[in-house]
Amino acid sequence: MNIFDFFKQNTTTKVQLNAPHGVHLRPSAMIANIAKGHNGKVLIELGSTKIDAKDMNKILALGLKNGDEVTFIASGKNANFVIDKIVSFLSTLTNENIDDTQSVSNRVFDFEGKKIKGDIISSGLGIGKPYFWQNDNHSVTTKQTFDNAYKKTLDKLSSMDDNDIFVAQKALLESLPKTSLEEFESAIKSAISSLRGSEHEAKIADYKDLLNSVNSNMNGAKNAQFPKDDFIVIADELLPSDIVKLVNSSAKGAVVKNLSPRSHVALLLRSHKIPAISVSEDIENYNDVIIVDATSGLLVVKPSEDDLVRAKEEIEKNNKDNLVEFENRFESATTKNGKAIKVQANIADVQSAKEALMSGCDGIGLLRSEFLFQEQKPSLDEQCKAYSEIFELFDEVTVRTLDIGGDKSLPYIKLDDEQNPFLGIRGVRLLKTHKDIIGEQLLAILKASRKKELKVMFPMVATTDEFIEAKELAIEIAKEHELSLENVSFGIMVEVPSVLFLLEEFNKVVDFYSIGTNDLTQYLFAIDRTHKTLKIDPHSDALFDALSLIVKKSSKPVSICGELASDEEVINRLIDIGIDTLSVPSKMVPSIKSRIRNV
Ligand code: PEP
Ligand code: MG
Repeated sequence: MNIFDFFKQNTTTKVQLNAPHGVHLRPSAMIANIAKGHNGKVLIELGSTKIDAKDMNKILALGLKNGDEVTFIASGKNANFVIDKIVSFLSTLTNENIDDTQSVSNRVFDFEGKKIKGDIISSGLGIGKPYFWQNDNHSVTTKQTFDNAYKKTLDKLSSMDDNDIFVAQKALLESLPKTSLEEFESAIKSAISSLRGSEHEAKIADYKDLLNSVNSNMNGAKNAQFPKDDFIVIADELLPSDIVKLVNSSAKGAVVKNLSPRSHVALLLRSHKIPAISVSEDIENYNDVIIVDATSGLLVVKPSEDDLVRAKEEIEKNNKDNLVEFENRFESATTKNGKAIKVQANIADVQSAKEALMSGCDGIGLLRSEFLFQEQKPSLDEQCKAYSEIFELFDEVTVRTLDIGGDKSLPYIKLDDEQNPFLGIRGVRLLKTHKDIIGEQLLAILKASRKKELKVMFPMVATTDEFIEAKELAIEIAKEHELSLENVSFGIMVEVPSVLFLLEEFNKVVDFYSIGTNDLTQYLFAIDRTHKTLKIDPHSDALFDALSLIVKKSSKPVSICGELASDEEVINRLIDIGIDTLSVPSKMVPSIKSRIRNV
């Protein structure tokens, strides 16, 4: 490329699609992601239709098929880069293996009932009676002061810490005034009014959720009362916490007015596999069963008998596919060309360990020990008991020492206020300020390990000296208490970019590496992982190049335990790079194993 290409203002490229499975959900999301990374416009033209390539739903609605002639048009600086990236991504679809249960089918039932068109938010099909979301049929519990109500909301969000959305809400809550309800409310109202009409309008729901939660804690918390029978929730607006309530109800689908596919509510609907569409019109108060077809973006009201039979058959088929994944969860995950991949689970406490046991995981790849005791400092015996209970359950457990600092805190570990907590005392750096607590934790872990294979992992390590100091502390403690280290290995989380350039040195001292892609991405791009406006492309080439480099340069086993390990879109890329161990949330184990079997 010469300098003139670099500054070219407009690029148009026509390609004939060689994508046997068409451009379904995952490729649409990928294309939209690539386009969103470009500052100028990116358009896709098919025949006489031209759409914005940054809008995944519009790409899906184009229904691009194998053999279609498609034109990509980009404007602005480096327009050729974004087109090259999309075209090179499209070339990967030639040999694409798709897991049919995950993709959006191009099939559109010719339903006989009245159809209302909507945009797909979360794919799937659901049948049930409409339930019009209201806030008045709720039971009420005790009233609280503002301080308590604020704290209750904070505690609730902390307990949902395994979900990025609630981690972000917690950070948002902590950034708001804690002095009085008036100040809290006025800060939220001004944030909402400045977000209106902006690119980040979807964040308004998070602010409203926080205000609702604190308000309802003060006025008496409201517990939603849902119908017992299958229902489709119809709402003008849903908030992230509403989805958590719906998850344990008989909700079979959701229809929400003007819901952004990028909103947290949309992400939660997808992660909980609740079929959902967004509509732009008001929905009348129907009494009878309706169908949400979120594979073709339709709400079917007054469906015929035939419509119901066909929709039920389709739902049963989907359930069967999910069941097959679930039934095969204890089988190993081997790619089509015979490469075995270990799928481990990320856990946080004894309860999640028990759940992981039933998930089919091949051991525990990450025990986030900071969530074992969240209220008050546990005694040595209490810690030892919890670790023993967890170690009992699995042949292999990787336990991470306390990773406090940055976005994680514990009431009994007081850290000084810092200008940049993500760059301050965090993870293994606690040895500088709280050596006793880490020492006691190491003692509890080593006592509980008995003869079990155990991996001890230090987070946030940036230099070999930090690792050596931490490991020496463990050796000293083992000696002092006459504990054997025979079955214990020591490794690090790869989260700080300096490690990439020190791998030759680390190879000499560590036993294993586990890549924390959440933090590695944050530090590679210098963007706070909880930042509410700045977003990072989770599939950026920079991150994948970093992963390749780690695998190439390390002489010790490498696994991934960050979010990326459970991203079905990139499993094949991770395996291509040479990763053979993934550690994922336990509820994802069956589907990740199934995805690997199709690579
Ligand atoms: C990570 O950073 O990817 C990771 C797994 O650690 P945590 O998300 O707990 O910081
Ligand atoms: Mg981390």
